[in-house]
Amino acid sequence: MLASLQATRSLSEITNMRIVLLGAPGSGKGTQATLLKNRLNVPHISTGEILRAAVAAGTPLGIHAKAVMATGALVSDDIVLGMLEERFRQDDVQRGFILDGYPRNLAQARALDQLLTRLALPIDKALQLDVGEQMLLARLAGRATAEGRADDSPQAVAHRLHVYQEQTAPVIDYYQRSGALVRVPGEGSVDQILERIIAALG
Ligand code: AMP
Repeated sequence: MLASLQATRSLSEITNMRIVLLGAPGSGKGTQATLLKNRLNVPHISTGEILRAAVAAGTPLGIHAKAVMATGALVSDDIVLGMLEERFRQDDVQRGFILDGYPRNLAQARALDQLLTRLALPIDKALQLDVGEQMLLARLAGRATAEGRADDSPQAVAHRLHVYQEQTAPVIDYYQRSGALVRVPGEGSVDQILERIIAALG
């Protein structure tokens, strides 16, 4: 009985992590976040998914976001931060989380630090999935066929990669400076990449 209690406690210590997942569109963030969420038993918070749900529900926020998202541009920082704050106030994030799709620029990175400091939930690791451009383009083309996402059209994909280079890539340096950054090569099989991530988090 005591042994099993101790085992439970040490498992929760390992899994109680607050992780930001970074990587270009097509780097496999969504796939790995889903697997990691099951492995670590923490919620997966995807700002893209929250926005797509708002679009599907036809809320005022969704109606505004739909047009912006279709072009591959970023939805305004205020809107996304408001959504995220609402999500972080839910009970399940107390046991850790995997944040995917946020921060997308330096202002969001700073706002996230402030928000999570205020909520006493600071980030433990920023995990960057590193994937070359050829592989990104191949994966995004495959996903456009498989999932039919409106923002996987060739024009929107090109714009999203441009936005990533211009606005999101500096976020990697931000986490490097804070000491939270961990880089993981994001090419190989889904399982190989997951094992690399687990090893990097250990
Ligand atoms: P994703 O599923 O993360 O690739 O996001 C899809 C789209 O949702 C992006 O191209 C943006 O238009 C929007 N989006 C998602 N996350 C953010 C964010 N943190 N800031 C602004 N726009 C976002």
